[in-house]
Amino acid sequence: MNEKSVKILVTGLVQGVGFRPFVFRIAGRFGLTGWVQNTNENVKIKVTGSIQSINSFITSLGEDAPPAAILENISVTETETEFFTEFTILESHNVSDEITEISPDIAVCQECLLDIEKPGNRIDYAFVNCTNCGPRFTIIEDLPYDRAKTIMKSFKMCPACRNEYETVTDRRFHAQPVACNVCGPQYELIVNKITISNDIKDILVHVSNYIRTGGIVLLKGLGGMHFACDAFNETAVEKLRNLKKRDGKPFAVMFRDIDSLKHYADINTIEEKSLLSWKRPIVLLGKKRRPVHPVLPGNLTSGLNLVGVMLPYMPFHYMLFKRLETNAIVLTSGNFSNEPILIENGEAKAKFSSLTNAIVLHDREIFNRTDDSVVRISDGKERILRRSRGYAPAPVRTTLNADGIVAFGAELTNCFCVGKGEKAFLSQHIGDLQSVETTLFYEKSIAQFIKLFRIKPSLLATDMHPDYISTRTGQNFGKFPVVTVQHHHAHIASCMAEHFLDEKVIGVALDGTGYGTDGNIWGSEFIVCDLNDFERITHFEYIPLPGGDTATEEPWRIAVSWLFKVYGRDFLKLDIPLLHQVDCEKIEMILKMIERKINCPLTSGAGRLFDAVASLLGLVQVATFQAEGPMRLESLAEDGRAESYPVTCGQTIGFDKTIRALIDDILNNVDKVTIATKLHNTIILTIFDSVKKIRSREGINKVVLSGGVFQNKYLLTGTTELLQKNKFEVYSHASVPTNDGGIALGQLAVASKRRELKCV
Ligand SMILES: [Zn+2]
Ligand SMILES: [Zn+2]
Repeated sequence: MNEKSVKILVTGLVQGVGFRPFVFRIAGRFGLTGWVQNTNENVKIKVTGSIQSINSFITSLGEDAPPAAILENISVTETETEFFTEFTILESHNVSDEITEISPDIAVCQECLLDIEKPGNRIDYAFVNCTNCGPRFTIIEDLPYDRAKTIMKSFKMCPACRNEYETVTDRRFHAQPVACNVCGPQYELIVNKITISNDIKDILVHVSNYIRTGGIVLLKGLGGMHFACDAFNETAVEKLRNLKKRDGKPFAVMFRDIDSLKHYADINTIEEKSLLSWKRPIVLLGKKRRPVHPVLPGNLTSGLNLVGVMLPYMPFHYMLFKRLETNAIVLTSGNFSNEPILIENGEAKAKFSSLTNAIVLHDREIFNRTDDSVVRISDGKERILRRSRGYAPAPVRTTLNADGIVAFGAELTNCFCVGKGEKAFLSQHIGDLQSVETTLFYEKSIAQFIKLFRIKPSLLATDMHPDYISTRTGQNFGKFPVVTVQHHHAHIASCMAEHFLDEKVIGVALDGTGYGTDGNIWGSEFIVCDLNDFERITHFEYIPLPGGDTATEEPWRIAVSWLFKVYGRDFLKLDIPLLHQVDCEKIEMILKMIERKINCPLTSGAGRLFDAVASLLGLVQVATFQAEGPMRLESLAEDGRAESYPVTCGQTIGFDKTIRALIDDILNNVDKVTIATKLHNTIILTIFDSVKKIRSREGINKVVLSGGVFQNKYLLTGTTELLQKNKFEVYSHASVPTNDGGIALGQLAVASKRRELKCV
């Protein structure tokens, strides 16, 4: 017999994802003997067999691994031949503090869904899971990932579950959340604060009745609670908006399945792949121009041509759709707008009993709160816009020494980030640090990440803004050196870290708001930078922002600011929608503020230019959700057209001519689609012109795009295409949000580089 032995080390996300049973199965398939073992750092394998079998085994390891596994590295070393009688799974072995990664939560698998149908202890059991699926991050209190360190510790396994848990060949071998009708968590239905039922079938009948008759139900899910109602019922949707306290944001919709969804949205293969992936994110899709009946009501998507859509991911969702007539339900975060998604049963009952028809809770505690993630496919790639369920807390891999760095992120759309070795653990979506509840969630989560990933903080990184809650949290964190990072430098550094770039690049950071080194509000920054430092080359011309933050909520103020800059008081004679839609006394008040420079900080925010144009077109005067103006404009932009407006490129980039030409278009009754398209093309051409100049001066060919404005698919795709056509190497975000949710990674990258250069 020509048998050999090899030792294999597998690193990456390989625990809690059914990796060892998978190794066991493929070893059997190729007739190999030996063992597999989990340690804190990796999975160790030793196999003995023919060279051919071993090679096939190694190929299969990489190619057929369970869907949720992320294999970072497979290293193979030949060792002295050792003979075994069989292949075994050895006891876990903890060698150090060098923990492996924590799996995000995984959508329920097909096999588990079949278990719900079969007679036995999991018939109609809504918490069914196995090593390939189920809750992970949301239930983990500490590592190593073992039932005793999860909230499942309060449920004692019944003999049948224990048997599956301990049987190597079973799909539930070491599935920590394993449970069944006999021993596991249960749902309860609450109406008017009173528990009406604990019977799942009964609960589903009630919930489907409420939804069918236009009611609203609060449902406890995987990482938090959701409000649910019939997505086709306009009145129910309106009721839900009021309940959430005037939340104007488009609501996410869960469809029964991909086929029913295809009647309402145009889906390409990449979008379909994202929708069906085990991560089950909300995918932003273009609405079909001619949908089938019944149509989705306009108030669902706030009049935008985009709809955020997801497919069922919990057993409960599938079971509910079986009893529902409708093919789609609204499933939006259970909270008042601006508060974090609700996770506690008591709070749910106290806050929402009188506001909803019913509340469905369960007794599986949510330890780590996670929202639904949001992605968008732009330029052929999945771009994460909100990184939470299914994605967090998987690390972002870098080539930097990130060890011990805690980066506190931005103020809005906050995520923070902690470093361990070369890995950056970017937190789940935290939200806007403006409510007390969100700030508490933020502080608690930072402590939790430090504990979970065994971080020993040694260096802190914050934004430069002195008044950000995140900045203050960082400053008060402990006696560690603090690196402050300019907001837009952090944006570009974040994208650089995502792409392993560590050199001089041209950075284009377009967003709404970020504190600049001159004390002004930046947001359209063309910089030359590396990870350590940056030089600001040019930017959009400053414009007064009457009322500061209030202006971002009331885009008409910015429009007035622009009109006054371009026309002086003569603009008051123009026949444009803005002057019919906004009270002239209010306009007069804003003009006085600008003239007297009262509470008018200067801004170069690219988002503000979009706000102004959205107001000029009469699309939005008072925003009901973040970035409403830019989103409405993007909704109008049409592919395949080349027209644009003039721009003045000097020391800074001026839009006086742009505004004049755009107002002429409005006065000449040019349609809004054309105007919105021309504005988008203008920005794309402006980016191109500016970076071309920087390239010829600096000899840098790599362009890094970041900032919230690049969530705009038209802009990102158009800019990338034009730059690539002109031989630029273009980098943009995919696995890290381009919005402020990605800032913390950039802060961490800059801090790491400055430490390396001994600048801290
Ligand atoms: Zn399963
Ligand atoms: Zn059981």
